[in-house]
Amino acid sequence: MDLDQIVAETAADIEPHRGKGKVADYIPALAKVDPKKFGIAIATPDGACPKAGDADESFSIQSISKVFTFSLALQKAGDDLWKRVWREPSGTPFNSIVQLEREKGIPRNPLVNPGAIVVTDHLIDNGDADAAIDNLLRVLRDHAEDDSIDIDYEVAMSESETGARNRSLAHFMASFGNLENEVEVVLSAYFRQCALALSCAQLARAGLFLAFDGKDPVTGERIVSAQRCRRILAVMMTCGHYDNSGDFAYRIGLPGKSGVGGGVLTIAPNEGAIAVWSPGLNDAGTSTVGALALEELVERTGWSIFG
Ligand code: GLU
Repeated sequence: MDLDQIVAETAADIEPHRGKGKVADYIPALAKVDPKKFGIAIATPDGACPKAGDADESFSIQSISKVFTFSLALQKAGDDLWKRVWREPSGTPFNSIVQLEREKGIPRNPLVNPGAIVVTDHLIDNGDADAAIDNLLRVLRDHAEDDSIDIDYEVAMSESETGARNRSLAHFMASFGNLENEVEVVLSAYFRQCALALSCAQLARAGLFLAFDGKDPVTGERIVSAQRCRRILAVMMTCGHYDNSGDFAYRIGLPGKSGVGGGVLTIAPNEGAIAVWSPGLNDAGTSTVGALALEELVERTGWSIFG
């Protein structure tokens, strides 16, 4: 299979759709991104990276960071993590608070905001949010083999300034005893993880281990056990796109995670990791053109896990 050609054809196919969807406008740094941007990159086990469009331009990965914190928390806590967060699709928007009251402060899954806030809390030792973020950054740089990956501090600052809803979620969970650290400590880490800036090429490379049973096929390094990797992918498949997860599974048939910056990280088991970016979102917060591109790509490669 000629992936360079498939990526080029996929990019050509979506050309007429560029600019579709609504760019997130809750913070200025996201609102000002050109809606016509589009990038696609596939990290493959031989270390290659077929890519097209704006695949080397950094963007705000936002909720895609939740995959990496979830993976780290599973390594740290093992199955104890499931005492504090469930693994069921929410069927509600990413920042919904209603379910939390009915379900006594236990969030639905690690890939919606309240679940990710609990996961981040779990990664903070001795109240040191900076150390947790330093570790996350080091892990991402290692996975991607790229020390230039960093946090966009303008985005992080804006996340905090507009973070009333996330603060509400965190205080609500704290009232049920489901936060170990102070709300502001946890959120200072959470807002920075949302503000991580990666390109499609870097993001696909960082997620490659998830396509190969938790082991980086390029370096040979085991990052998570094969069993944990399967579980991370199962949660991505069922919960990776908020209340749009069913539609994404139906159309693309691969585990993935989207973020409101317009990025989507998608895993094709035993094949590679695909990152797409296009800032215009659908109503649920998933990239409109990104999802279209993935649909095209899966059609051409036959990579859907459903055959
Ligand atoms: N920074 C956003 C928030 O926490 C992330 C949402 C997303 O990417 O889904 O509300």
